[in-house]
Amino acid sequence: MTSLFEYAPAPESRSIVTIAPSYGLFIDGEFVDGTGESFPTINPATEEVLTEVSAGSEADVDRAVRAARRAFEKTWGPMRPADRGKYLFRIARLLQERAREFAVLESLDNGKPIRESRDVDVPLAAAHFFYYAGWADKLEHVGLGTQPRPLGVAGQVIPWNFPLMMLAWKVAPALAAGNTVVLKPAETTPLTALLFAEICRQADLPAGVVNIVTGAGDTGRAVVEHADVDKVAFTGSTDVGRSIARAVAGTRKKLTLELGGKAANIVFDDAPIDQAVEGIVQGIFFNQGHVCCAGSRLLVQESIHDEVVASLQRRIGTLRVGDPLDKNTDIGAINSREQLERIRELSDIGEAEGAQRWQPAGELPERGFWFPPTVFTDVSSAHRIARDEVFGPVLSVLTFRTPDEAVAKANNSTYGLSAGIWSEKGSRILKIASHLRAGVVWANTFNKFDPTSPFGGYKQSGYGREGGRHGLAAYLTGADSK
Ligand code: NDP
Repeated sequence: MTSLFEYAPAPESRSIVTIAPSYGLFIDGEFVDGTGESFPTINPATEEVLTEVSAGSEADVDRAVRAARRAFEKTWGPMRPADRGKYLFRIARLLQERAREFAVLESLDNGKPIRESRDVDVPLAAAHFFYYAGWADKLEHVGLGTQPRPLGVAGQVIPWNFPLMMLAWKVAPALAAGNTVVLKPAETTPLTALLFAEICRQADLPAGVVNIVTGAGDTGRAVVEHADVDKVAFTGSTDVGRSIARAVAGTRKKLTLELGGKAANIVFDDAPIDQAVEGIVQGIFFNQGHVCCAGSRLLVQESIHDEVVASLQRRIGTLRVGDPLDKNTDIGAINSREQLERIRELSDIGEAEGAQRWQPAGELPERGFWFPPTVFTDVSSAHRIARDEVFGPVLSVLTFRTPDEAVAKANNSTYGLSAGIWSEKGSRILKIASHLRAGVVWANTFNKFDPTSPFGGYKQSGYGREGGRHGLAAYLTGADSK
């Protein structure tokens, strides 16, 4: 889209990345052919096929789980915790050394702007490994007694919105706690997980400690349902999360679920408006809105509604939508045709239900999957766009008059993952935050992540926490428990 200013293109070079014509699975320290059909992974900004990737069958998943079990029993489990920490530090440093390569590959496979993959996804992934590397020999301080034990083999299934970062959130605490892993990346974004497999080899990580099995939902199901998996960690949609909870119920497997969200971003009339507008933009348009904790419901105090909306529209007019590899790009491509259709469908329903759609003027690229930044006003809590997770660059604006009404509207959701509060008064922020049923509440900021902070939801946003000390507890058992 065009904006007020024209910039010369500033493309990041893709030549730093070498993509092989096809990829196998990473099992027991080796790249091996999968026994399932291969499938293409495409660049969503151009629809160009990047490469072919193996779909792991049940037999492949079984091979991976057996490799992980062997590694747990023979190498990783018995290893001195401080030595495990050294491997994690090594992985963290290698991620930093090859950061540019990871960033370009992530933007190619996912469609997110290079500015974000370079400045957020990859540095945060490395930070996660650094953070958990430090914990590896201090597990007695996690809060589970003096001799917490690893669970064994972790089966991990991750989504397409933050492929490398979600891998880091899963793999780093699991390994630091002494577990081994079988991880399935999302079907549309497997490439940075395969590059991570290369990093594991470069770090001389013992064979079988990390296994990457690419594929679609069936491969994920095989990982989750494998009888020799001790712990399941899943991030993705609430529907699939629910089916996983059913599959795991009645087994001895431990489960953590990080599911959808519909966060309220609450702006009071005493908030610094310009700063709040930046936070609203960051809250909903970061990563094209493909963010489980996105601030997709703006709750603005009625007296400042018109001012905030006008200021927001002015700011959105300056956002640049386009080539993810261009360093000027603010909003990249939608990850898949399927996701684009879902965003279109929910937006059309929003209009049909009576909300007012606003989008900035401008052209979108012809090829690839694109959706302009969109604001809906005149939205009520009953509208689908105020209830369903759109998972795209679509903001619904609602109003409130009193703090109690703000809290009631914010909590009027089946989800409870995150929220934001904008106000000049610290006491008001603390009071409102204490009444919000949301796992994370940001004050005068939004979408800030840190490996030391626990992250997770209430209600249909899932259970269990990732990040911080709490994230380790999900991969350990105390000396007294079974
Ligand atoms: P899914 O929940 O379908 O996908 C998440 C991961 O689970 C993927 O690796 C997927 O494989 C895998 N998977 C799919 N079915 C199964 C199964 N039965 N058992 C085990 N694993 C399975 O999310 P989608 O990608 O389909 O996204 C749909 C919606 O989910 C989005 O619109 C959004 O609302 C929400 N979502 C929320 C996320 C979050 O961070 N909370 C992240 C992603 C999506 P495959 O890639 O092949 O589908």
